Amino acid sequence: TSPIRIGIVGYGNLGRGVEAAVAKNPDMRLAGIYTRRDPAQLQPLHAATPVHAMDSLLSHRGQLDVLILCGGSKDDLPRQAPELAAHFNLIDSFDTHARIPEHFAKVDQAAQGGRCTALISAGWDPGMFSINRLMGEALLPDGATYTFWGKGLSQGHSDAIRRVEGVAGGVQYTIPVEEAVNQVRSGVRPELSTRDKHQRECYVVLEAGADAELVRRTIVEMPHYFDQYDTTVHFISAEELARDHAAMPHGGFVIRSGNTSARNKQVIEYRLQLDSNPEFTASVLVAYARAVHRMAQAGQHGCKTVFDVAPGLLSPKSADQLRAELL
Ligand code: NDP
Repeated sequence: TSPIRIGIVGYGNLGRGVEAAVAKNPDMRLAGIYTRRDPAQLQPLHAATPVHAMDSLLSHRGQLDVLILCGGSKDDLPRQAPELAAHFNLIDSFDTHARIPEHFAKVDQAAQGGRCTALISAGWDPGMFSINRLMGEALLPDGATYTFWGKGLSQGHSDAIRRVEGVAGGVQYTIPVEEAVNQVRSGVRPELSTRDKHQRECYVVLEAGADAELVRRTIVEMPHYFDQYDTTVHFISAEELARDHAAMPHGGFVIRSGNTSARNKQVIEYRLQLDSNPEFTASVLVAYARAVHRMAQAGQHGCKTVFDVAPGLLSPKSADQLRAELL
């Protein structure tokens, strides 16, 4: 069978991750990268990868099996996914949890109309964590689910501190509170507040002449982003920021703790420890792109989420092979 032809739409951190992930999957081929910027200015990881302007995407329709949308959840995906789902099979990593139902409805309408298959909100959260929350609830109905994130770099919170007056640069790490994690693992089903579960740690480079104490207070009191957490702010130099904080680690745990009888408690834990958030997210997207291709071939059109995909569809192996090797 011929390889699945993948198109990358948008070339940032996630787009680069997808380029790397496709190279690790011999049943796929990267047909091209599509960007809103000048294609000549982009430097793909592999010099041979074709880079095209977004305008040419529709005319390449017959050369692409699945598009992997790598734009941002805030402004790009809400526009691009519904627009493109009318013409292409696609997948995105839309991660604004509260707006997923709205995004789903728009993408579904477009995909149904175009007889295409579109899968939204894949990745790790939403994505693999969502599956593990579902499994925990379904298997242990008498129980509680806990999601902890980190230690990891949060893009949204890093952006928020960079917008504070007097800040020249900075990053924010989300850190699970160890005591809370241990309590959850013990199976006692604690009631935990936002502050009990996570701490926030900021590394900030000040602008010349900025008032450090004022910057610190502005950060730790920032509504919604920091005020509900215990936040520490460390001031560092621009050199230290570039040297020690350029990576994008992340991860976390989903834990379900439940009882199957009065005597017996059961604890399920799923853990991710990621050196690179975008590279891992991209690996998940690529596996789900394979499933999207198969579902499209089977005529399963419309919008899907990770909940609608049978696990076997993610693997390049045949159903026979999976039964023999992994069951
Ligand atoms: P980036 O900001 O790196 O890229 C987003 C888009 O911005 C790109 O597609 C690109 O579009 C454009 N862009 C990238 N670099 C530049 C630049 N230097 N100048 C101008 N434009 C640029 O975002 P990420 O790749 O880090 O993340 C994308 C999304 O992935 C996030 O918004 C998040 O929602 C999602 N995500 C989901 C996860 C999950 O578990 N579900 C986990 C992690 C991320 P173009 O090439 O068209 O210009």
